[in-house]
Amino acid sequence: MKIVICASEVVPFAKTGGLADVAGALPLALEAIGQEVIVVMPRYKAIQDPKMQKLNEGISYTTIGNKIKVYFIENDKYYNRDGLYGDKSGDHKDNLERFSYYCKRTLDLLPEINFKADIIHVHDWQAALIPVYLKVLYKDKPFYKNMKTVLTIHNIGYQGLFLKEEFPKLGLDWELFSIDMLEFYGKVNFLKGGISSCDIINTVSPTYSREIQTKEFGFGLEGILSERKDKLFGILNGLDYTIWNPEADKFIAKNYSFSSIKDKYKNKMELRKICKLPAKKDIPLFGIVSRLAEQKGFDILAEGIEKICNMDLQLVILGTGDLKYHTLLEDMAKKYPKVISFNSKFDDPLAHKIYAGTDIFLMPSKYEPCGLGQLISLRYGTVPLVFKTGGLADTVTKDNGFVFDSYNKEELMKTMQKALNTFKNLNKWTELMRRGMQCNFSWDESAKEYLVLYEKAKAQ
Ligand code: ADP
Repeated sequence: MKIVICASEVVPFAKTGGLADVAGALPLALEAIGQEVIVVMPRYKAIQDPKMQKLNEGISYTTIGNKIKVYFIENDKYYNRDGLYGDKSGDHKDNLERFSYYCKRTLDLLPEINFKADIIHVHDWQAALIPVYLKVLYKDKPFYKNMKTVLTIHNIGYQGLFLKEEFPKLGLDWELFSIDMLEFYGKVNFLKGGISSCDIINTVSPTYSREIQTKEFGFGLEGILSERKDKLFGILNGLDYTIWNPEADKFIAKNYSFSSIKDKYKNKMELRKICKLPAKKDIPLFGIVSRLAEQKGFDILAEGIEKICNMDLQLVILGTGDLKYHTLLEDMAKKYPKVISFNSKFDDPLAHKIYAGTDIFLMPSKYEPCGLGQLISLRYGTVPLVFKTGGLADTVTKDNGFVFDSYNKEELMKTMQKALNTFKNLNKWTELMRRGMQCNFSWDESAKEYLVLYEKAKAQ
């Protein structure tokens, strides 16, 4: 099958979150099972690749895997600046133009490289206009005949909302600014347009695919998703075990495996040194690697933080995001320097060190489409502690971690205390670590499921 993967961020070229991990790993997994894949993304300022070549004015490309071409849409006015979607002052003001340009240019690229795709697989709001343009502006062009679209929603909290006044810039007829297409409470909604126009919709875990059809999790799109529920599926993300593997991880102090699990302790010692936390025997080290956002559970963590700092534990946090959580965590780290280490930056090597060096990975997300942190920590023998939602509910159980099912600070702290008690029993704890390390969330299975989904789209 010929497949185009369209995403606004792709590892190893640009990353702000899990979308990039998925968009980088899925093409490789699809190629490994014999599919012909290309990837298309914007060429941001920071993207440099020694193998980069020019295709024509406005398009460059490089190769990943065996022969997957990654095409970059170039446009200095739109992409030659800091920040993928925004900077310190907020979202870039011209995001509607930046990403509608990306969507249209992607469709125009296909005949230029003579790639007659069976499936165009678009990810999140930034690429969600592709199915709209395909249906509306390209449908009568013979080259695009029979091309089908799959839209993956990685997080329905981000929809690409813009003022109505900007609609004409999309080059679409005003009649598409309608309730069953791009209009959403008087605004333009890219994701809604994609949901309405694509052939198949999916999200990144089975539980989340059900949750987003409810008012609580649907962010206003539950209605249209329920209407299209026969086209809506959930496939759990895989994890790229070539990147996330404690046996071969080049960022960590000491490699270890299932059979040399004791060596994990050396990573804990090293991490405490890096984070300037005192070495205390028998005290568990908790870790967080996350965006600092309410979605990730920071509201209940913030409510309980003083009490947490007085528990018998240490905590390393790596993350950037909402200013109010930055301020709070900085204050707490100053007040409790022996307990909390707060690292406010995006730092991939440090993330690896935290996954390897902590005992418990804290991920109390309020909602979580899939979540990668818990999958990574399981592989590193770091026991996840999660709220039962979305992909966390599909991957963490009492057999490999700690789960709470009422979202409030009391339940969170009760579960943390339970983890502290279990940690005291070395045999029990080692069992828990081992069971986590044995879980398999590789891309092989997920890629096969995507193929089935693509077949469904082709049959539409
Ligand atoms: P998101 O909702 O942010 O996409 P996921 O759990 O799906 O959440 O993926 C987050 C990814 O980003 C993981 O690979 C995680 O390790 C990484 N990550 C998040 N914050 C940071 C940070 N500050 N530094 C390094 N990596 C980070």
